[in-house]
Amino acid sequence: MDTAQEIEMVLNAHAETGEGPVWDFRDQSLAWIDVTQGLIHRFDPDTGHDEVFNAGEHVGALALRMAGGYALAVRGGFAALDTDSGVLEVVADTEVAVPSNRMNDGKCDSAGRFWAGSMAYAESGREGSLYRLGRDHSVTTILTRLGISNGLGWSPDDRVMYHIDSLAGGVDAYDFNPETGQIAKRRRLVDVARDDGIPDGMTVDADGCLWVALWDGGCVRRYRPNGTFERAIRLPVRQVSCCTFGGPDLGDLYITTAARGLSALDLQKQPGAGGLFRCRPGVSGLATHPYDG
Ligand code: CA
Repeated sequence: MDTAQEIEMVLNAHAETGEGPVWDFRDQSLAWIDVTQGLIHRFDPDTGHDEVFNAGEHVGALALRMAGGYALAVRGGFAALDTDSGVLEVVADTEVAVPSNRMNDGKCDSAGRFWAGSMAYAESGREGSLYRLGRDHSVTTILTRLGISNGLGWSPDDRVMYHIDSLAGGVDAYDFNPETGQIAKRRRLVDVARDDGIPDGMTVDADGCLWVALWDGGCVRRYRPNGTFERAIRLPVRQVSCCTFGGPDLGDLYITTAARGLSALDLQKQPGAGGLFRCRPGVSGLATHPYDG
């Protein structure tokens, strides 16, 4: 079942690898990244203005930093970006010794820890890991032998963590302990058939439902907490990478997309590829957790 949603392109950004949207409650902007261009964007929904910072290397994920600026997962590990000075400070070198890998999707938990995973540039094999950056900048390896570590999220009661390995074609759920940051009891929650797309980034709404972006699937799907399909929101582009709720009432669903690898003919058919999209699906999201380190 697909429901007709009013979906608009709010920024025709032509991003190579638009990704990682985060609602910034500090200035009511939407931060998002272009992974392969190494760009950090700050989109102001009121004016439509999009400010761009160049990180100078590939960026896998962005989080708000409580001390100001952003925390990033960059190619080689975790970093902090002071947006006033433009200084990028490396915090932890998780993949520096593995040049065939880069850091990928990440998100902060309610206790202000920053979780992010890695992947091989080859987008094959099982070279990826999932890391947890503590408030004290210590890194804990949580999962290994991942294909492409991607979407993360937590249930509204903070007792379940969700994680996507795109090459494994689905969403896994874990018991989560918010005090210790430990996960346990991995189980498969959602399977996505390859013909329907590749599960990429995700967010959780206030009802506890999961919104999963389908790369090469042209949509975002909503799943109930028990894993059953609820609805899909179709986009006019195929490479849908990630989504998050934003806006003053957290009722706007922002969706990033990518133009990477598309042929001239593909781009004719999908002129909005790499654009930033938005709709109001009638539910609201959860507050953004910043990194507290
Ligand atoms: Ca991703």
